[in-house]
Amino acid sequence: MSIPTNLQQVKSTLPENVTLVAVSKTKPVSDLMQAYEAGQRIFGENKIQEMVEKWEQMPKDIQWHMIGHVQTNKVKFMAPFVSLIHGVDSLKLLQEINKQAQKNNRIIDCLLQIHIADEETKFGFDEEELEILLNSIEFQEMKNIRILGLMGMATFTDNQEKVKQEFTHLKAIFDSIQMQSVPTLNFSTLSMGMSGDYKLAIECGSNMIRVGSSIFGSR
Ligand SMILES: *Cc1c(COP(=O)(O)O)cnc(C)c1O
Repeated sequence: MSIPTNLQQVKSTLPENVTLVAVSKTKPVSDLMQAYEAGQRIFGENKIQEMVEKWEQMPKDIQWHMIGHVQTNKVKFMAPFVSLIHGVDSLKLLQEINKQAQKNNRIIDCLLQIHIADEETKFGFDEEELEILLNSIEFQEMKNIRILGLMGMATFTDNQEKVKQEFTHLKAIFDSIQMQSVPTLNFSTLSMGMSGDYKLAIECGSNMIRVGSSIFGSR
């Protein structure tokens, strides 16, 4: 099926409060342009270099989301334009984002990645580390970052019950932070769900999904 048709199909199933990030990693600009012409304005990439190249070539009203693991030394390349960084998983990375945002005279929006899966390879904070971070002076002193919410990835498994448990756990962490935080923090975004599990993620309270292969085809 065509990219515009796939996009339409995914969008038609989404509740109004759910934001769709079209994950375009590895796909050529011509594919992204098909989605753009069908109205899509939010794209997700997982490699900074690739995102920069696409940003240079494409219309400037696109919001670019970095959804992959970020190396500290590469933050500077996306700092001028990145719209949301999903995978923030350390204080050190947050400090570098803050520094580069300051240099560019802007505030960069971030999500903190929470480790909810079994796999060791998935990055992120656990609940206790998150608590420590949010209460630290270093965190509170950073003025050029804004934490909009949390991001998580479930275990790669066919076991829906397990995935559901992990999403529900992340939603509970999200709710507890949202309850504690002051309204001005804009803590409102829960990024969870990909092609294989976004419907379940939405049932569990996600309001931002990252969908690649269901729109652009397999990679
Ligand atoms: C690639 C990727 C996605 C999209 O995966 P699909 O299964 O193609 O929808 C979502 N989130 C992250 C972090 C990814 O790296």
